[in-house]
Amino acid sequence: METLRALLRESRLPALERGMLWQHVLRVPRSWLIAHDDDPIPAQQVDAYRRLEARRLAGEPMAYILGFREFMGHCFHVTPAVLIPRPETELLVETAVRLLQGRPAGSVLDLGTGSGAIPVSIALACPHAEVVATDLSVDALAVAGKNAHSLGATVAFHQGSWYQALRPGKVFDLIVSNPPYIPKDDPHLAQGDLRFEPKMALCDGHDGLDAYRAIVAGAPRHLSPGGSLYVEHGWDQAEPVCGLLRQAGFREVHSLPDLAGILRVSGGHL
Ligand code: GLN
Repeated sequence: METLRALLRESRLPALERGMLWQHVLRVPRSWLIAHDDDPIPAQQVDAYRRLEARRLAGEPMAYILGFREFMGHCFHVTPAVLIPRPETELLVETAVRLLQGRPAGSVLDLGTGSGAIPVSIALACPHAEVVATDLSVDALAVAGKNAHSLGATVAFHQGSWYQALRPGKVFDLIVSNPPYIPKDDPHLAQGDLRFEPKMALCDGHDGLDAYRAIVAGAPRHLSPGGSLYVEHGWDQAEPVCGLLRQAGFREVHSLPDLAGILRVSGGHL
């Protein structure tokens, strides 16, 4: 039997990914790998590792292979039915949490929730807020529901296209969304993790702004007086998104930079 040390050395993956896959196969913490690198590894586990390694070498995202991704310090279950939560989306959550802290019993709606990373993180940070989330995809809602349950967050999920998922007349203090915003011809869709993620979560099939048109147009009917709308968008979309917000009557329209300095979230108030 080969030792873990020898196996770790021969892998073709970067050291970090190698370690993560071995942790997954052996169901051990990272420190165990270091303390036990002399241990012989049974053939069955070596086979299990090789199967995962082959998937990774074929380009499959680590988050889908492992079945989870960390976001806002919480561990979210993910499947190929949902977009993998991205670090830049933490800015949208932090913006929402700051707003809700001024209105402890406020209500918030997340449109196109995917894994539920956004509403679950908001609900955990703002336990007195009413948190509602929608998605068109039944499979995504199953993942989101599982995440809310396992992390102990109270979120009401509804299936349907944008606002159509809601009962008529329902209004919120805050609406947030990280909708599909990649234009249909963007070459990034054929690269890296994006090749494996659901197209409907990445791309609007048009110029990348269709989702914002729908979300911004419906927002005034679904916001309470003085309510706010914040959306995540692509690196070059701050200007057109702010234009849509102003046209719809939003005030104090502004954009916020992510940790890379890219204007990533835009919003305003009614
Ligand atoms: N931020 C993602 C990316 O560019 C896209 C997510 C989205 O379309 N909402 O990889």
